[in-house]
Amino acid sequence: MVFESRMAVGLAALESEWKEFFTSLGEKPFRATQAFHRLHRKFAASWGECLEFPLPLRQKLSEICPLDDLNILHSNTTEEGTEKVVFEARPDPRGRPRRLESVWIVSGERRTICISSQVGCSLNCRFCATATLPFQGNLSAAEILAQVYSLIRHRKELPTNIVFMGMGEPFYNYDAVLRAADFLHHPQGLGLGARHITISTAGVIPGIERFITEKRPYNLAISLNVPLEENRSALMDINERYGLKDLLQIAVRYTKELKRKITFEYIMMPDYNMDSRSLQALIRIARQLPCRINLIPLNTDFEGFRPPTDEEALKFQVALRQAGILAFNRGNPGKKINGACGMLALKMV
Ligand code: SF4
Repeated sequence: MVFESRMAVGLAALESEWKEFFTSLGEKPFRATQAFHRLHRKFAASWGECLEFPLPLRQKLSEICPLDDLNILHSNTTEEGTEKVVFEARPDPRGRPRRLESVWIVSGERRTICISSQVGCSLNCRFCATATLPFQGNLSAAEILAQVYSLIRHRKELPTNIVFMGMGEPFYNYDAVLRAADFLHHPQGLGLGARHITISTAGVIPGIERFITEKRPYNLAISLNVPLEENRSALMDINERYGLKDLLQIAVRYTKELKRKITFEYIMMPDYNMDSRSLQALIRIARQLPCRINLIPLNTDFEGFRPPTDEEALKFQVALRQAGILAFNRGNPGKKINGACGMLALKMV
């Protein structure tokens, strides 16, 4: 109830549930609408901020379903305004502190929040710093939302985009992630357009299937990184479970059934996936379906991996473009603060 109380308000399906909750407290159902507005539009951190409620009701709600926000433990900001924040959540069942990271990314007019869906990650991508942390389970939908609302209050501005690309595999926490996305999209909440919300998976096929079946309106990205089957298994354990061939089949199905482009994320690692064989394999994949490729230079030397030079990155991008592939270099705006892709390991600079 602690965090979930924030969740029980809002979406049409949940409104009656929350109205029932207020009625059970002896309150009028319109209190549910007021609560939704305060929590999801005004980003209240506690029931004490619901000033339209009489004091006894505020006190009662604080006792029976406290909102408890995520606490900001640390934050670091680059000159350009990109900021990495370490949050403290409720301790895990063994009493160990749970810490997670989110990044506010400034890029031109865009203000993107990269949020976490789990504490640590159960996957073991060799190039990712998050994989070195202990895995401490899923975040609740309310904890996912609290990252966004807390950052909005902290920054005193609204994001233009949300990406589920922080710690964890979002499709291993499907229900909470999609529930949080629905709230971010809700017109009486933050009201972000569906195409401004992106969910990125390392390739959990059942999650993608469900996403298609449910006709979810959000962008889907696949963290592809390695376009050759055997090499992908060597760097990403998930490929052992859900192989590249099946992954591409479901990606094609996504583009056909939902009539949308898919995004492939591709972390450029010169000694592993930028040789001509990998390039040709990537081109073959990209020609099979409507897609765009987001190239992300590996950010730092990490356990035998090295970042590409600017020349290597440009050469790779140009080769893709010359093959007619939509390829963008997303750069690494959070690099200086350990807040870029694959660098979320609770390190502060
Ligand atoms: S890259 Fe993503 S899926 Fe892979 S270990 Fe890191 S957080 Fe997990």
